[in-house]
Amino acid sequence: MTDHSPAVPPRDSGRPGRRYVIRGGTVMSMDPAVGDFESADVLVEGSRIVAVAPTIDAPDADVIDARGRVVMPGFVDTHHHLFETALRSYLPNGLLLNDGSGSPSADPSYMEHIIGRFAPAYRPEDVHINMLYGRLSQLDAGVTTVLDTSQIHHTPEHSDAAVQALADAGARSVVGYWAGDGRPESQFPQDARRLKEQYFSSTDQLLTMAIGGEVAGGADFGPVYAPVWTLARELDLQIAAHALGFLMDPILQGIARGDNGIALGPDVLFIHMVHISDQVWTAARDAGVRVSLAVPIEMAMRHGTPPLLKMQELGMEPSLSSDVETTMTADPFTLMRSTLTLQRMLVNAQIFDQPRAPENIWPTPAPGTPELLLDRDVLRFATLNGARDLRLGGTTGSLTPGKQADIVLLDATALNVAPMNSAPGAVVTLMDRSNVDSVIVAGTVRKWRGTLLDADLPGLRATLEASRDHLFTAAGLKQHLFP
Ligand SMILES: [Zn+2]
Repeated sequence: MTDHSPAVPPRDSGRPGRRYVIRGGTVMSMDPAVGDFESADVLVEGSRIVAVAPTIDAPDADVIDARGRVVMPGFVDTHHHLFETALRSYLPNGLLLNDGSGSPSADPSYMEHIIGRFAPAYRPEDVHINMLYGRLSQLDAGVTTVLDTSQIHHTPEHSDAAVQALADAGARSVVGYWAGDGRPESQFPQDARRLKEQYFSSTDQLLTMAIGGEVAGGADFGPVYAPVWTLARELDLQIAAHALGFLMDPILQGIARGDNGIALGPDVLFIHMVHISDQVWTAARDAGVRVSLAVPIEMAMRHGTPPLLKMQELGMEPSLSSDVETTMTADPFTLMRSTLTLQRMLVNAQIFDQPRAPENIWPTPAPGTPELLLDRDVLRFATLNGARDLRLGGTTGSLTPGKQADIVLLDATALNVAPMNSAPGAVVTLMDRSNVDSVIVAGTVRKWRGTLLDADLPGLRATLEASRDHLFTAAGLKQHLFP
């Protein structure tokens, strides 16, 4: 028998050989071969899921009481600029670019203020605290895996600080090695060799590495991808890049054609994919390119209409990403709900716009109308698809025996949720981060009954505020709570 009390987390969770069973939860595995259970047990040993079944007899294992909880895989965010945490809510109205209108949305804009003025002011210690605090916040919200896409690798010391921050967070992260502000001491992209060897030589760890392979850059916004993509493929690093057609579609067409001896492939993750020509879309689909959509940001900051219907037409599915907390929260519930409601708005509008007689007040969808997205679809985007899109499909994204135990327990007894009448419906349409009861990464309990473990949040917040003060001073910008 175990001497473990259900009031505290299992001892030494995540250590090799340590076993515990998550008992009596409503299990939504996200793996069609495992299925869903109104009530089931999940057995974890070390870092892995061993079994998912209605009842598991494991007398030697500690117990986590999951009654009243939805037990599901942790969420995956496939694009987050974690370095901007100290600038949260700085740009609630800001557009991506200044459109010259003189409106409060045009100025300050994202490119002018965040990338142009704040980003160059980051020291390695700013990178560390911003990324650590932002990553812990997402862990608290149930995001067990994230791709960091911070364009903050100004020097090798900045890169070391980024890796250290994500390691210190104790969660699964993909470190995106991105170009910084182009200062002479930058060693982008060739420092990728050192980083890979120094930090990513083991495959048995929480951190993996990708590279920022932006397709356009420089003063003329010309094609800059070839050397980075070539190096990425030599080092077997995933390539991630923003794909904004209004700026880059001609270059993307060149990649789709195989210009410069570079081809699209399943190792490429394109972010946003707005204003993209059909030629590029078809080539991307055929090459197995992955697509990350930051739906709330794309809608608010004028990137373009998130291409949910285009992807549906092509038989593709996205993963979801939060992008920037300067302008919108990074919690996965907001991402799922925004995606669901936007797609349904677009399709519902099409249905009302069909030619019809005046007395036909509630038309049946015409043949060829896209299917409405369902709660389960956005859950898949936010879990399984995210893992797949970060080349972690065999590691995380579902409660599958053999995979890493990246698990969230969501409180379905809470005031904003009870009584539960549909598990996927409750998670997608009702829950928010307040319902994230417990979070497990690679078998280790990181959040327990509402409290993040092993994190000195007051101390970290003080450091983050000091970083924020430095950044405003160095950027020559004033802090105003009511700008
Ligand atoms: Zn981005």
